[in-house]
Amino acid sequence: MGLSFSEIYPEVNARLTFEIENVLFSEKSPYQKIVVMETGQFGRILIIDDFVMLTERDEFVYHEMIVHVPLFVHPQPQNILIIGGGDGGTARECLKHPEVEHIDLVDIDEMVTQACLQYIPSVANQILSKKVKCHFQDGVEYVKHVAQKYDIVIVDSTDPVSVGEGLFSKEFYQDCFKLLNDDGILINQSESPSWQPGEVQRIAGKLKSVFPAVRYYQAHIPTYPSGHWIFGFASKKYDPLKNFRKNHYQHLNLSLKYYNADIHHGAFALPTFTRELIDDA
Ligand code: SAM
Repeated sequence: MGLSFSEIYPEVNARLTFEIENVLFSEKSPYQKIVVMETGQFGRILIIDDFVMLTERDEFVYHEMIVHVPLFVHPQPQNILIIGGGDGGTARECLKHPEVEHIDLVDIDEMVTQACLQYIPSVANQILSKKVKCHFQDGVEYVKHVAQKYDIVIVDSTDPVSVGEGLFSKEFYQDCFKLLNDDGILINQSESPSWQPGEVQRIAGKLKSVFPAVRYYQAHIPTYPSGHWIFGFASKKYDPLKNFRKNHYQHLNLSLKYYNADIHHGAFALPTFTRELIDDA
């Protein structure tokens, strides 16, 4: 067998191994180890600190679900704050909505963006849009000091370890709450209820202690731990199902590969063990 890479899942003593054709980029930044690999079956994959961030084969699932669920609920998603998201996939999906006027993308590590612009342009190239302003700094600090108000905050972060840990803290959520308009929505990637139940519950507990309404929705991301992933929908006003803008969704008629009106509703129908995890948080 040739070159391979395995992501190790310590929570369940398991691993996912990819056969690798070529290592295109491998560097340590002041914050993380960043690697881009070429594979036969999954296209190019981005790995940070030995965790798979995205593969060209299934990144559309994650990016469509972290963006279109909130943007087809909020009536005027004009000003968006993306925390993390240095690969550009979340910005790419946001820019499919004509109402979006401005995106501030705050990623701690410029090397991630540079590597993705060079090696994974299918995901990254919309970062160069004039509607996107990149800030390469710690998101925890950015939300403490920014005066701008936002309609939607999307926390497209690494896992709650290392530099990503602060993005799962109560203080961070409180700061995000303050910079959201009165009808603002925060979305965060919230790990796997199947293989990281403790983490999911800790994150949910903190989010529920800050926002008046918190719901969770799920997606099937084959190259993420267990493939079963969830997102937090923390809202100051809107309900993700009652306020779903179905007519607008049909009017925009975006060509998407995962997200659609049924998935928008179905994703909030959680399995009992996941619902109990969150209800008990
Ligand atoms: N979809 C991926 C996932 O769920 O694992 C996340 C992808 S995105 C590449 C994650 C980004 O979060 C990385 O580019 C990383 O640099 C950024 N990040 C980690 N900690 C951060 C922090 N404290 N402030 C801002 N960005 C941060």
